Parts: sequence; structure tokens; C-alpha cells
Amino acid sequence: MLDMIDLTLYDPFEKMQFTDTNCFLCGTIITKEHRAPVFAEWLQHKYNLQHKELLMLDKSVTTFSQLTIPCCDRCHTHHLMPLEHEVAQAAEKGMEGLRALPPQRLFQWIGKMYYGTLVTELIKETDPLVMPQYAVSEDPKMLGKFRSFFQVLQSLRVPMQFADFLPCSLFLLEVSPTEDTLPFEYQDELTTMAFSIKLGSVAIVCTLLDNGIIKKALGRLYQVTEGQQLHPIQLAEFKARIFYAAYIFSVVPEYFIRPVKPEDDHLVLDTLIDDVTNEIFNPWEMTAYAHMLEEMLKPWDIREQQILQNPHQPLSFLLDEHNKYKPMEHFVKPA
Ligand SMILES: [Zn+2]
Repeated sequence: MLDMIDLTLYDPFEKMQFTDTNCFLCGTIITKEHRAPVFAEWLQHKYNLQHKELLMLDKSVTTFSQLTIPCCDRCHTHHLMPLEHEVAQAAEKGMEGLRALPPQRLFQWIGKMYYGTLVTELIKETDPLVMPQYAVSEDPKMLGKFRSFFQVLQSLRVPMQFADFLPCSLFLLEVSPTEDTLPFEYQDELTTMAFSIKLGSVAIVCTLLDNGIIKKALGRLYQVTEGQQLHPIQLAEFKARIFYAAYIFSVVPEYFIRPVKPEDDHLVLDTLIDDVTNEIFNPWEMTAYAHMLEEMLKPWDIREQQILQNPHQPLSFLLDEHNKYKPMEHFVKPA
């Protein structure tokens, strides 16, 4: 018997259906025992994350193994497991393997972790006893963004082709082992949708829902890093630049599904960014960037003052004064 392909998308935002008894991906009613880890088990085992703590948006603490989302068996077996298997195998081969993965798969993989964290927040906010300082579910602009994002994330479950775009920017960077002490690192920012994860010597930095615009805008910077083994502080600076770009990125793409014919076995999505009435980026502000960089450089204890010593050219470990790559093997604290 042929399995009919259901091309119907699920929209949990319509009725704000964020509960422990709706599958996060398809909406099916499930019992509370049906859950999937946000960070896959292979990842937890490989990097010994089970008991590692995670700080949530409401300042509560959880662990990587406790962070799970409601997920039906079908979505778990047919959609999440194959994806995790694919990424785990690619990660085994390091940079070469991860580069060979279709970008759409990497997008889905990162998107699932990002969305898993988000869903956890949204479910919490439905609890009348929880009074978050900042409720994501009460910000209409953010909700619109999340809704658009979930539309494209459903490519995980519903066969989907993005016409001429990828709904994100992906950067893959290699880190030199010389002074690298962290086999695993992870960071995400719920509101700007910036995400980074480091697996051994490979770091993946991603800005979700920008349709690749940030990658285009920072293409030269990315080019400079290609073929290089970055010092961890150089990676931190790269992340600061990308996360800051996501922070000033100010448009939300819209996605449109082409009309479906009965014989279709996948959806085709087109996209539109309104860059006529909107500026794509808010102006770059040096102090705000310096702030972001200071945050990323915390492990090296470098202060904003040092970063802005030359107000026209902020401190950089990545680029020299001609914007060329500055090789660096050992970190020496600047005076
Ligand atoms: Zn499901």
C-alpha cells in the first residue's frame, strides 16, 4: 500500500496550541510520555552533556537531557531520527562531512533545536503560575516571526522545496586544536534567531529566517576565514559579528505556498522580503557591537574600553588593519 503524502501544514500559532499533549511538529494529540530530546541523544553521549546545565529565558535551570519536547511516535521515528542519524554520521567526518550535508538538512537540524527551546518557553508561559519577565507569547511581532519560521521548519515533516532561497545563513568554521579547550559549545538567542553550535573542531554559526541575507552581507568576512583554522577567540569574534548582524537585521521574510495540484508530492515555497518600505538592517552602532563582542570575549576577559581604544577600528583578532586575515596561534592579552 502506498503511503499517501499529506501536504497539509500545521499552524500551532493560530490557536496558540503549545501544550504537553500536542506533537510540536504535526499537532497530533499525544500523552505526556511522548517526548523527544531537543539535543539528540547521540550529541549528549558524544559530548557528555546529559547533566550539563542550561539557562532558560525565565532564568530557570535545566539540563541537556531534561530538555525535551512533546513529539508523536510518527514524527519521532520518521522525521527526527533519520535527520539526527544523518547529521551524526556527517559529524563523524568533521568539516568534510558537515560541508557535504545538504544545507536544507543543516537548517532543519539547527531549526529543530532552536524551535525546541522556543516551544519549551511557550509551553511554560501557558502556566498561570509562571510570570515571566518577558513573555515571548505576548509580543505580536515576535510571534509573527516564529510563525513564519515554523512554516519553513515543517520541511522536516512535509516534503518542501524552497524555490530559490535557503531560509537562513549558514557559516561553517574550523577551529585550531592548539588552544581549544571546549569540545562542545552552544549558544542561541531566541529573539534574534542567531544560533551557534560547536562540534569538536567544527563550529556552525547560523542566523535563522534571514533568507541568506546576512551571509551575503558578511560574505567577505566569511571568505577570509575559509581554509583557516581559527583560534577560539577568533571564532568568538566571528560569532559576535554574525550575532550582531542578526540583532540589527530588521525584516521578516514572508513565505508563500504555490497552489497544490492533486498529483504533487511536495510543496514549493516562494519568498518575499519587503525591502521597499523597510530597511534590511538598522544602522550599525559601534558601542552596541562592542558590547556584543565583550560578551563573546568574556572567557578572555577583554573589556569594552580595550575594544574601542580606536573608536573607528574596533579591536579585532580576526582581521588586520587592511581587513586581511590575521593568523593567530597563541592568545596574548592585548595591553
Ligand atoms: Zn507528530
